[in-house]
Amino acid sequence: MTEIAADGKRSNSESITACNERLEGYIRDLDLERMPAEELLRWASETFLDRVVLNTSLQYTGVAMVHMAVSAGLDLRFATIDTWRLHPETYAFIEQVKARYGCPIEVVEPKSGDVERMVERHGEYLFFDSREKQQHCCQVRKDWPNNTLLKTADCWISGQRWDQSQYRQETAQKASLVDEYGTRRRILKLNPLVDWSEEALMEFIAANEVPVHPLYDQGYPSFGCIICATPRRAGEDKRAGRWRWFNGETKDGDDPKECGLHYNI
Ligand code: SF4
Repeated sequence: MTEIAADGKRSNSESITACNERLEGYIRDLDLERMPAEELLRWASETFLDRVVLNTSLQYTGVAMVHMAVSAGLDLRFATIDTWRLHPETYAFIEQVKARYGCPIEVVEPKSGDVERMVERHGEYLFFDSREKQQHCCQVRKDWPNNTLLKTADCWISGQRWDQSQYRQETAQKASLVDEYGTRRRILKLNPLVDWSEEALMEFIAANEVPVHPLYDQGYPSFGCIICATPRRAGEDKRAGRWRWFNGETKDGDDPKECGLHYNI
């Protein structure tokens, strides 16, 4: 258990309760919802030091925030999850972003035993079988590695935006507390660009020559794993290309195009 001391460094004596209370205090006492993105990144970096991580799948928002953080001289941790099923273009793009910004990007992977057990039991392509099996695959390859990453952080920066989907409009906040999976520890989740429109984001990217993932040019609106992420066809919804075999399967309170990563953890 750790603690933020007066000099901003954490000691090993803060209880989970005290840490939760401190995070609740930030939400209650600071107007995080109204802080502009750059200011929020600076606040998080200076407040949490190495206990804050920007986890990105290298989409527009993630790389734009890497650009903001590096340009502002912030010493922020960047991370990405390698599900072992990413497109080759994504692996190459990780290297491109690291080279452009001269920053490390932590690559978080699933545990090989977990993947082996899943594949042995359900097959490599279990995600075609049912929504439940797809969620299980996402859990093993994305959510559990994300949980492992978040054990090293009290603040998680993500790139959700309201105009990405109806579901995100209803659920994403600029600052909120989420529960660490299986514990009572809480984590401050920040979405600094949540209120940015697509147009504002694209303007920022063009003006700053932010590197852009090459799969956007091939019609991919987002890029997770091979097979599960496909290009969008003319006239389709933004996220129709994700698990397209589930298109039309919406249950109450559920978004079939959302993996578990952004549900409460
Ligand atoms: S996107 Fe597909 S392959 Fe990737 S973790 Fe989820 S179900 Fe598995």
